[in-house]
This record gives sequence, C-alpha cells and structure tokens, in this order.
Amino acid sequence: MTKRKKTLWVLPIILVFCFLGQQLAYGAQENINELLEGFPPNTVLKEGPVVRVKKQTPPRKKVALTFDDGPDPKYTPQLLEILQKEQVVATFFVVGERVGHYPDVVRRINREGHLIANHSFTHTDFEHLTNEEIVKLELDPASKAVEKLTGYYPLIMRPPYGSLRTDSVNFLRGEGWHIVRWSLDTFDWDRTRNKPERIINRILELHHPNAIVLMHCNNKTTVEVLPQVIKTLRDLGYDFVTVTDLN
Ligand SMILES: [Zn+2]
Repeated sequence: MTKRKKTLWVLPIILVFCFLGQQLAYGAQENINELLEGFPPNTVLKEGPVVRVKKQTPPRKKVALTFDDGPDPKYTPQLLEILQKEQVVATFFVVGERVGHYPDVVRRINREGHLIANHSFTHTDFEHLTNEEIVKLELDPASKAVEKLTGYYPLIMRPPYGSLRTDSVNFLRGEGWHIVRWSLDTFDWDRTRNKPERIINRILELHHPNAIVLMHCNNKTTVEVLPQVIKTLRDLGYDFVTVTDLN
C-alpha cells in the first residue's frame, strides 16, 4: 500500500469521529436550553457561553368577574368566601341604599381586595331620569355611601338593567364617570335559564380575552356555580382581575 492510499483509508474514520463529536455538542446545548427555560433571554452561564433561550410563554388572558345588586347579608359573604379560597379578585357594583343597610359586608369586600363600584342608589331605571337627576339622586349618594365606609368615592358605574340614554352616556363621561357594562351575561338572575350547567356552557361558548362577566351577588345559584365558573375560566387560560385592570 502506498503512503497516499494509507492516508485515504484513515479519512472515513476521522469523519465519523467529527460527526459524533458534533452530535454530542448539540446534545449538551439542548440540555442547557431546557435548564434555562423560563429565564430571561441571553442568560449568561457562570463561566459559560451566552445561551439564547426559547421565548417566554405569553401572559395569560384576563377576565373580570362582576357582581351586581349587593351587598346581600346572606349570599355576598358566601361569594366572598369562595373568592378568598380561590384567590380571585372581582368587582362589586353595589346599590347605595343597601350599602347603608349592610356596612360590614361592604367593609369586608373592600378589605379583601375587591373593587367596589356604583350601581345607583335605588336601582331605578336611568332612562326615566334627567342627566342631573342621575348624578344627584342616584350616583352621588351611592358613591358617598361607599366613601363613608371605605374612604374612596367610586367613579366607575354600571346603570341598573344596563339602561342608559346616549345623551346620558355623553353627559356622565363629561362629568368624569366611567361606564362599565358587560360582555358576557351568565343569566344567573334569570330562573328560566340559570341552571349551573347552562351557565357553564354559556361561558364555554362566549368567553374571550378581557371579558366582563355579569353575575349577581344576591342569589343562591351564583354561589352554587361560582367555583365551577372559576375553574372553567382558569382551565381556559384566564387570570382574574378587576375591571380597572383589564387590557
Ligand atoms: Zn342590577
């Protein structure tokens, strides 16, 4: 065998070793990436290379649970228990005259980190009031009742029955009020269609990021279905926020 032929015979062996070496290096890199998942990009390993890691998972979607018509001395505390156990915050649109009747419930809503907003003083239909009357007779007294107990004057409001004339919308906005309606009605208030299974199906069908879910805090059905509502939305990838923390 000539010297040249000997050299050619060795070449495939060198190539095989090169290939194996490269595979080992790739393997090590993948392991590092796995370990670093969840860390910021371009993490510098101690005495090691700069490693570009996978993009972080996107933030979870947000949803706001809202409870109208309280406070109720029986059902609102039961809802608060569930929310506390599940570590969920919500928004309570309270009725001013009820705030005066059940101050301890209102204080508790506030103490447990939920947002309290205005749902009128007497739960009357705003369609029948002048713009000035809406503020003077309904919104202002209700917010003052909340302020007396919590120290803050809510400027977020939801009109009873969602009923508000266009001129009132413009007027109230001009006065600094934030009007919040809803995007997903659970119909927990409607005895003909508030079976827990129907409420959950409605959520599965209509959920969307930044949904404002309408519920009520003065009935048994809502208490019964709330744990399932929370689980369903969590499983769909939602975190719970107050209406002021939606995107
Ligand atoms: Zn209402």
